[in-house]
Amino acid sequence: MKLRVIVLGAGFGGLELSSILSETIGDNLDLTLIDQNDSFFFGFSKLDVMFGHKAANTVKIPYSSITKPGVRFCKEIITAIDPVTKTVTTPNGTHKADVLVVALGANYDIAATPGLAEYGNEYYTFEGAVKLRDIIPNIKKGHAIVGVCGAPFKCPPAPSEGALMLHDYLTSGGLRDECTISLVIPFGSPIPPSPDSSKALVKAFEERNIQFIPQHKVSALREKTAILDDGTELPFDLFLGIPKHVAPDVVLQSGLTENGWIPVDRANLLTKFPGVYAIGDVTSIGTPKAGVFAEGAAKIAAASIIAAYRGTENDNPYTGAGSCYIEFGKGQVARVDVDFFSGPKPFGIHHDASELLVIDKEIFGSSRKARWFGLNDAKQDAATGLAEQVTQTN
Ligand SMILES: Cc1cc2nc3c(=O)[nH]c(=O)nc-3n(C[C@H](O)[C@H](O)[C@H](O)COP(=O)(O)OP(=O)(O)OC[C@H]3O[C@@H](n4cnc5c(N)ncnc54)[C@H](O)[C@@H]3O)c2cc1C
Repeated sequence: MKLRVIVLGAGFGGLELSSILSETIGDNLDLTLIDQNDSFFFGFSKLDVMFGHKAANTVKIPYSSITKPGVRFCKEIITAIDPVTKTVTTPNGTHKADVLVVALGANYDIAATPGLAEYGNEYYTFEGAVKLRDIIPNIKKGHAIVGVCGAPFKCPPAPSEGALMLHDYLTSGGLRDECTISLVIPFGSPIPPSPDSSKALVKAFEERNIQFIPQHKVSALREKTAILDDGTELPFDLFLGIPKHVAPDVVLQSGLTENGWIPVDRANLLTKFPGVYAIGDVTSIGTPKAGVFAEGAAKIAAASIIAAYRGTENDNPYTGAGSCYIEFGKGQVARVDVDFFSGPKPFGIHHDASELLVIDKEIFGSSRKARWFGLNDAKQDAATGLAEQVTQTN
């Protein structure tokens, strides 16, 4: 009998899980992959878009490229999830399956930070990054703040990357001496599990005269003033925010969450509902919200689903290990290999920023494009061109 699976969300986690199930049980698989968007993009491409390194339409990969045995992609907005009957509702009707995998990621609550929408900007949504590409060139002098408005947030290095890349941007325009940059983050160090990566980042901030303000978050904005959680007021001319993160509404209404996120069993990524798994940013598993961890969780969830289908058991629990790249600017990238659950406490191994790691990061991206979409770079250029034509003719 075919295994009927619905994967909710075609991001890092959903794409990896769908790929594994297709490769392993292809002809016996009947998998529906649902996403509200028609294309995928890597989180890190928002930084490239924001600073004008890449055009917005070149970083999107259309889901129409997916041709995997047993997998059918549906562009639909999920409006309800019933974890008891394993039924998913969209405006087009309902989908029902034997196994549900919730991989809907994290959304942003912009309104949770009063004044952010009116007086600030954010680069965590694609639209926010696109908007900033036109706003950043307007800053000629004054104070720029990169500020985190709430934790947990996706990709812990991304605020530091934003500040370092802004430094490069202003330097290349000959404006750095006219501007000051501050970075506000709620942790004691930029990447708490890796003291070495944190040390390297703090050194980079000092060398570039970026004011690092740890242990604080931005609570509110007034016109040209950021208010921190202890009441400190910081005047600004440009505010680049990291908004408060929340689970998507449809997940909050499903009965799957506790304290705002979905708790899962690390051994198999199962929720409290039989046959219902959750992976990635939407969970409270204990790793940071990042694509590499969503992908790692997808591997274990897929192994558990396959084992259950075959009547065996998966005995490899999720270790919470993954490698995160850190844009240091000046054409260099560092990497931190972190492991959250193998030892008594999380630990990270730092690899210094280098040009070689720029290539490593490129390979990270292109290998996923090849694996999930069957695209090499030449094929992706063609697919992107096609997506552009479709957009223009719509
Ligand atoms: C600036 C920035 C830089 C980053 N850099 C990195 C990095 O270098 N490395 C790294 O590993 N991670 C990075 N990340 C984080 C990474 O993008 C996310 O953590 C990762 O995408 C999470 O994967 P996921 O599968 O859990 O969710 P997502 O990839 O967010 O996928 C969730 C999917 O669900 C869909 N969805 C949501 N609600 C609905 C609905 N109601 N109906 C239908 N579809 C819906 C969404 O459209 C989305 O496609 C970065 C993020 C940002 C913002």
